[in-house]
Amino acid sequence: QDERSAAHEKAAALEQLAAGVAHDFRNLLTVFLGYGGLLARRDDLPHDARKQAKDIVTAAEQGTALAKGLLEFAHPQTAPPAVLDLGAVAAEFMPVLKAAIGSKYKIQYTQPDELGQVFIEKGQFTRLLLNLAVNASEAMPEGGLVTIRLAPVKLTGNPSYLGRFVLLEVTDTGTGIDAETQRRMFDPYFTTKSKGTGLGLAIVRRIVDRVGGLIRVESSESKGTTFRVFFPRVGASTGGTALFPILPPQLGA
Ligand code: ADP
Ligand code: MG
Repeated sequence: QDERSAAHEKAAALEQLAAGVAHDFRNLLTVFLGYGGLLARRDDLPHDARKQAKDIVTAAEQGTALAKGLLEFAHPQTAPPAVLDLGAVAAEFMPVLKAAIGSKYKIQYTQPDELGQVFIEKGQFTRLLLNLAVNASEAMPEGGLVTIRLAPVKLTGNPSYLGRFVLLEVTDTGTGIDAETQRRMFDPYFTTKSKGTGLGLAIVRRIVDRVGGLIRVESSESKGTTFRVFFPRVGASTGGTALFPILPPQLGA
């Protein structure tokens, strides 16, 4: 218990610190963006100088995106949740997702007609989906297939998690995740990547916690990884619900 709250406090302090640095850093970068942009457009300068100014602007834009991510993590936008059809939201979001992970990757997306509804903020759901898909793509540096599936499921076996859920599955055929990484991967700032922020799964976890959902991982070094997120369904609609074939490991009675 004590260890837990100490860890919580440490994480909160780190978040504060990161947010402060990110904020100042982003403001500082506007100077690079502003003057870099002006220099890049000055036709009295030699071509290679303008090219270098353009590179400064590009780097400053990347830095701004990173700072924005850190700020978002430390101070998440808390728009009110709404009753959503995740299928419609996901379908609409697919083109954005494709563009975000790049043309080396194929996305196979399937959803049934009848899914049921979930009480969640739209931006939180798309953020979660994006983070999982980006991780899936990064596990396959040569490119490959990211499979995304939505399905209605019914969980049985654990009294805390009985009932109807919408399952989101994101599967890759990448490197897999070893046991030690699985133990720590949801910790803020934990990363095994040279350019990682370690915030992706921490954000995913927080979103899942907030809606009272569950997250489970199945991974092997030979086959790749599947992340499963279970969102609690709202309403009493009964159509199209199937039993989830494999009980998530920690739910077994
Ligand atoms: P980041 O992607 O910036 O490293 P994340 O929080 O998104 O941070 O992920 C933490 C770590 O979890 C990654 O560095 C990686 O080691 C591991 N990981 C997450 N998803 C996958 C995946 N689909 N395949 C392999 N490793 C993964
Ligand atoms: Mg990530």
